[in-house]
Amino acid sequence: MAVLKRLMLARASAVVARGLCSGRELGSGSGCGPKQLPLQRSPEGRNRQWVFLGCPGVGKGTYSSRLSGLVGVPHISTGDLVRDELAASGPLASQLAEIVNHGKLVPDEIIIDLLSKRLEAGEAKGETGFILDGFPRTVRQAEILEGVTDIDLVVNLKLREEALLAKCLGRRICSQCGGNYNIASIDIKGENGQPGMYMAPLLPPPHCASKLITRSDDTEEVVKERLRIYNELTKPVEDFYRQRGKLLEFDLPGGIPESWPKLLQALNLGDNANKKSAAA
Ligand code: ADP
Repeated sequence: MAVLKRLMLARASAVVARGLCSGRELGSGSGCGPKQLPLQRSPEGRNRQWVFLGCPGVGKGTYSSRLSGLVGVPHISTGDLVRDELAASGPLASQLAEIVNHGKLVPDEIIIDLLSKRLEAGEAKGETGFILDGFPRTVRQAEILEGVTDIDLVVNLKLREEALLAKCLGRRICSQCGGNYNIASIDIKGENGQPGMYMAPLLPPPHCASKLITRSDDTEEVVKERLRIYNELTKPVEDFYRQRGKLLEFDLPGGIPESWPKLLQALNLGDNANKKSAAA
C-alpha cells in the first residue's frame, strides 16, 4: 500500500511538474519544482470528485455550492481562492489583480499552489471528495488533474448566451456574509422556434441589502474578455472530458426554481434532496 502511495505521489509530482514547466510557455511564473495535489486516485475511502464547467455567469458557484451542502463534499472554487488571496493583500495580490481585472487566466503554477493548499487544509480537517468550480480551465489543467486523481463526473452547465452578460452585470455579493445575489431580471422573448426564458432576480434579504458589492471583474468589458477566453481555452476542456465519457451536459431551463429540481434529477439526487428536506 505504501509503495502504491509513493508511486502515485511520484507520478503526481512528475505530471504536475511537467504541466507547470510547460505552463511557462504561456507566461506562467518561473519556478517549476515538483508540486503535489493531495488527491487520491482510488475511489476507495473517498467521496464524490466532481467538476463544474460553464461560462462566466452561468451559475457554477450557485449550483455547485448548493450541491456541496446536499451531498456533503466541499465546494472548492478557484475563483474564490483567487479573490481570498486578493482580499488578504498578500505578496501575490497586485500581480493577481492585474490579471483578474483584465479577464485573463492566472498562471497554472499559482492556481495549482492555491488549490493544493486548499486541498491540504481540507485533508487536515478530514475532508474527502470535492466539487471543483473553476478548475480545470484549460486542457493542460485538466491533464494535470487527470494525472493525479480520477474525476467521477463533470457537469457542463449551459445557459443561453444572451443571459450570461446580464447575469454577470447583475451579480451582487454581500460584503458581510458573502451571500451571492443577482438583481438582473432576464426576460428573453421566444423567436425562431426557440422558447422564451425568464429568470427572476435573486434579491438579497433586507439585512444584506445595504452591504452589496460587485466583483471588480464584472464590468462589461472584462466579462466579454472572460467569455472570449472561456471559448478559446476552456471550451476544449469539455471535449477532453466528453472523450473520456465523463461529461454531463445540462442546459439550464431558467432560474433556480426551474433548474435546481431538474439538475437533481439529472444527477440522480432527487431522493437525497427529498430525504434531506424531510429530515430538516
Ligand atoms: P468566472 O465567473 O469567470 O467563471 P471565477 O470566479 O471562476 O470566474 O474566476 C475568477 C478569475 O479567477 C478568472 O477570471 C481567472 O482570472 C481566475 N481563475 C479562477 N480559476 C482559474 C483557473 N483554474 N486558472 C486560471 N485562472 C483562474
